[in-house]
Amino acid sequence: MWIVPEAAIADLMTEEASFAAVESVFAAMSRGDAVNFPVIREAIGHADALYGFKSGFDRAGLNLGLKSGGYWPGNMDKGLTNHQSSVFLFDADTGQCRAVVGGNLLTALRTAAASAVSIRHLARPDVKVLGMIGAGHQSAFQMRAAVKQRDFEKVIGWNLHPEMLSRLADTASELGLPFEAVDLDQLGAQADVIISITSSFDPILMDAQVRPGTHIACMGTDTIGKQEVEPRLLARAQVFTDEIAQSVILGEAQHAVKDGLITAQAISELGAVIDGTHPGRTSDDDITLFDGTGVGLQDLAVASAALELAIQRGTAIEVDF
Ligand code: NAD
Repeated sequence: MWIVPEAAIADLMTEEASFAAVESVFAAMSRGDAVNFPVIREAIGHADALYGFKSGFDRAGLNLGLKSGGYWPGNMDKGLTNHQSSVFLFDADTGQCRAVVGGNLLTALRTAAASAVSIRHLARPDVKVLGMIGAGHQSAFQMRAAVKQRDFEKVIGWNLHPEMLSRLADTASELGLPFEAVDLDQLGAQADVIISITSSFDPILMDAQVRPGTHIACMGTDTIGKQEVEPRLLARAQVFTDEIAQSVILGEAQHAVKDGLITAQAISELGAVIDGTHPGRTSDDDITLFDGTGVGLQDLAVASAALELAIQRGTAIEVDF
């Protein structure tokens, strides 16, 4: 079997490779060729840790495996990242363990790729202003992947903790784009595309703040109770997601569904748009909203791509197992 250590991932995976892997597996999910298995996530009663598994099988790409890991709040004091994950890939024909791949950077890349795929397939072609809500670790990855999809001329941003906005300013500067910190009214009035990537448990962006034609990628809500936008916004928008079953339980749509504002039938898979079986945006005035909940198949897709690159370049470590 192969080992691809965490430290090797940065030199192997690009935004483009992550985008291609995630776009392809979203389409496979929509065709029924790839399936996510039920997610396990438990407080283990030690180190305040939340630990779990996300797993699945992509019959088209023959990717079978799981991402295991979670959140260890005390890690920062040990000089480690609080979020820890590793991906295990198995041979779909024999069940033998094929590879262990470091999953920390891959998680950020696959999450950013998901919103970038939504922008490619759902945003208006002429968008110019990217609005960022959230300035944590993931926000920089989100911005870098998003600006590759359209000719953005400016980034604007808001964060609950303003001292973190320097991350958005620095990332925009690295990408050669001007950045302006704004309030949420200005953000909704100016942004053509909005990405929210926060740990919020209350709505941040209100329905009335969003103009027609906007594309919104809600990426922070991946757990029951989390929330980033007012539920009424989902009733006004065309809602898309990676996986409908997850969207209505733990994604941004959970609140609008619980409030009776939308039903699961009103939510479409982004993979169907990629595959051409759903038209996606139908007018420049539509509001499109992507509920990116994060599925195990995304992790398997990017880990498998990283493994192939590592084998090709001779950087994967082979061990007898
Ligand atoms: P981080 O801890 O580095 O940053 C957290 C961000 O949320 C910061 O911008 C912070 O100011 C903001 N925030 C914290 N509490 C808030 C509150 N009560 N109200 C509004 N904003 C608040 O986290 P990160 O690594 O950038 O991840 C952000 C979120 O994305 C996390 O909640 C994480 O679970 C989620 N996530 C989702 C996926 C997915 O696939 N959908 C993948 C990875 C991470």
